Amino acid sequence: MEEQHKPPKRVVVCGGGVIGVCTAYFLAKKGAAVTLIEKSSIACAASGKAGGFLALDWCDGGPLSSLARASFNLHRSLARELNGPQSYGYRPLDTLSLSITESEPAHGRRLSSKLPSWVDGPSGNARPIGTTETTAQVHPQLFTRALLSKAMSLYGVEVVIGKLERVEVEEGRVRAVALEGREVVEADAVVLALGPWTSKLSLLSSLFRVYGLKAHSIVLEPKEPDAITPHALFLSYYSAQGGKPLDPEVYPRPTGVITYQGISLPLCGVREVQPALDFALWTWKVVRPFGTPPSERIATLGSPRAWSRV
Ligand SMILES: Cc1cc2nc3c(=O)[nH]c(=O)nc-3n(C[C@H](O)[C@H](O)[C@H](O)COP(=O)(O)OP(=O)(O)OC[C@H]3O[C@@H](n4cnc5c(N)ncnc54)[C@H](O)[C@@H]3O)c2cc1C
Repeated sequence: MEEQHKPPKRVVVCGGGVIGVCTAYFLAKKGAAVTLIEKSSIACAASGKAGGFLALDWCDGGPLSSLARASFNLHRSLARELNGPQSYGYRPLDTLSLSITESEPAHGRRLSSKLPSWVDGPSGNARPIGTTETTAQVHPQLFTRALLSKAMSLYGVEVVIGKLERVEVEEGRVRAVALEGREVVEADAVVLALGPWTSKLSLLSSLFRVYGLKAHSIVLEPKEPDAITPHALFLSYYSAQGGKPLDPEVYPRPTGVITYQGISLPLCGVREVQPALDFALWTWKVVRPFGTPPSERIATLGSPRAWSRV
């Protein structure tokens, strides 16, 4: 009887990316009184720019196998529960691996009947690596925001826009979190989900290292979005300059855009955007019948010659 009158645990989740929002949603659904703290806006970082690609069995054989499978299946059931196809672009996908060789002519012949019709450049070795049973996608920003909106309306999660400065610990137990500007939010438990910023908290950086990699994400609007089929493409991209192939990924979204992802680089200056733009320009030749040329789309960054001065 006494148990029933216990106040719910006050949990403060810090970080409004997909990890923080999902943690907040499921803890609140289980009965915790959750406050989510985000310094900028929900899904403003990687969680808003990612490919949103989901795979059932790509971690098989490794330590994350059961987690990845559970996550894939949870996405499927959440999409049913939350009207995922309409509210955040959940859909199963076919997934292909293929190679592109920059030195071959841009208008090469179609080398494989497995290729979707919107890929007509110098690509080869197309091979299925996922089916609609084993691969899927969400629009990551819409997913994160839709889940938070349900967490707030169904389970009372509160959102505070503020920057976590430190976690206050007393006698080995978390007591509160302090936000910049001195506001303090009391807590029985704190979850830190700050993505690559996690290591900025001395509490954690002394225990383990969390670091970020820069990955590029470019969004293009095709002129004929209906012609773009639900196929995710994993490319091996052989540059005319030689060297190791790059491994960008192409994800058409049900919202009518195509995102190009990848080319991870160590975190450094803004100049490093150049390889991604070069890559986008070339890849465009492979899918160009359906889009606006990047020289127009990337007009705000200037001409390709100007990019080297970015
Ligand atoms: C280009 C790209 C493509 C990707 N594609 C895929 C994919 O297809 N499939 C896949 O599964 N994964 C993909 N990923 C990885 C995936 O996006 C990340 O693993 C995931 O988004 C991490 O989420 P997060 O919540 O941990 O971090 P983040 O999204 O980085 O969120 C951290 C949040 O914490 C907030 N924050 C930071 N410091 C503070 C503070 N002091 N106080 C309050 N708030 C703070 C930030 O503002 C941010 O909103 C991709 C990543 C990138 C960059």
